[in-house]
Amino acid sequence: MPETDGGELLEVLEPATAAVLDAVPRAGVDDVDAAVERARAAYPAWRALSPSDRAAVLRAVSDAVREHREELARLEARNAGKPIGDARGEMDMVAQVFGYYAGAPERLLGDSIPVSGGQAWTVREPLGVVGLIVPWNFPLTIAAWKLGPALAAGNTVVLKPAELTPLSAVRFAEIAREAGLPEGVLNVVVGPGSTCGQRLVAHPDVAKIAFTGSTEVGRSIAAGAAQTIKRVTLELGGKSPNIIFADADLAAAAAAAPGAVFGNAGQDCCARSRILVQASALDAFMSALEGAVRAIRVGDPLDASTEMGPLISASHRASVASFVDDVAPVAFRGTAPDGPGFWFAPTVLCPVDPRARAAREEIFGPVAVVIPFDDEQEAVRLANDTIYGLSGSIWSGDGGRALRVARALEAGVLSINSNTSVRVSTPFGGFKQSGYGRELGPNALDAYTEVKSIFFSTGSAG
Ligand code: NDP
Repeated sequence: MPETDGGELLEVLEPATAAVLDAVPRAGVDDVDAAVERARAAYPAWRALSPSDRAAVLRAVSDAVREHREELARLEARNAGKPIGDARGEMDMVAQVFGYYAGAPERLLGDSIPVSGGQAWTVREPLGVVGLIVPWNFPLTIAAWKLGPALAAGNTVVLKPAELTPLSAVRFAEIAREAGLPEGVLNVVVGPGSTCGQRLVAHPDVAKIAFTGSTEVGRSIAAGAAQTIKRVTLELGGKSPNIIFADADLAAAAAAAPGAVFGNAGQDCCARSRILVQASALDAFMSALEGAVRAIRVGDPLDASTEMGPLISASHRASVASFVDDVAPVAFRGTAPDGPGFWFAPTVLCPVDPRARAAREEIFGPVAVVIPFDDEQEAVRLANDTIYGLSGSIWSGDGGRALRVARALEAGVLSINSNTSVRVSTPFGGFKQSGYGRELGPNALDAYTEVKSIFFSTGSAG
């Protein structure tokens, strides 16, 4: 059960049916304070654990996630409405993240720096209690990206999942505890961002907030954290470009484009939702894309053949639908089930004016805009013409051009002739208003440690 004594119950819905899936106690501010206190109490012992023992606990957590893969995947598929195949892949990644960061406690290296009169070197210290605030789109995966490096570095944690999708975090905490994570090292608080999230941000005993979610809430977290000079990392929205040059393998680009924008029903901060296509290849690309979009299997998340599930909630569906009004230039749409559940058919708009709302705002749903361009310069200008800078793709048969464009794009995570953004061993994070700080890879540890410099005087020979 989550960390609360609370009386009020929070009903958790299943997006594919709109029915109640479960009910969990809803935490309040007092529960956050109690969780922070438990994390504070657990900190000295967790931090003092030998690096190899801390590594062993993280390895055991990784193994336990693998053992509970199917249970966690089904829970995530039902609560977040994502296809079961995707959910299984996400649980594999969660296990990988803990396995990867199990290597970190014994590799938190410092520098030895030449100085006069003695020896100077640096060590990495944990921050203390860190607050993790995560969204509903990849509930346990995004939590794991933060938990792995935070715990490896010796911090203790209060994790606040989104109220819409708390179930996998609650179950994961039980599994991790059974695997040997000491009491109080991980505390899950299920409650609203407006109360529990804000309290974590304001709490004087929380050293850092790691947040993934909307740019708007990220802005308020950065402002709130300033009061106590908390460390903050922010992984926020995106409006990522998928740039397709006429010299690309158009069939491969068109076959891959739907997965890059309609995966997780478009509820992905890395969604390549702006497809920029060189005008001379537009017709050929669009006809290949149409076949791929119409073929997407949208349906029951627990059916192994499903490729796209529903949206997360009724209100989010209404927000997505507002981008496909009567005057939207719909080029073609896929299908979606009727009946209960928050369904929305994959939709491609073309041609879209780069100044249009659909081309500028993060839709966070299965709606792609296609924008034609003439040359490399225009492609780069259009791609960078956004407040965001998270990810993007470049498809071209000209390696020099692909690299030139990759260097010119203002974004943190790019792929060439591929739409993949995320690997456990490589850094992930945004430029501009997509946030700051990096998750995953070796860089994530920087965000959960302070560098301390120590000078040891050697005196003078007598
Ligand atoms: P939010 O940014 O509101 O929610 C993300 C997390 O922050 C949730 O745990 C939420 O809690 C919490 N939160 C909300 N308000 C506060 C606050 N004032 N202080 C501290 N924590 C807070 O995202 P939404 O769910 O509202 O989604 C809205 C839009 O955000 C989406 O349409 C999409 O554009 C973007 N988004 C981007 C994501 C990404 O991966 N970068 C992920 C999710 C959304 P709770 O929900 O429990 O109240």
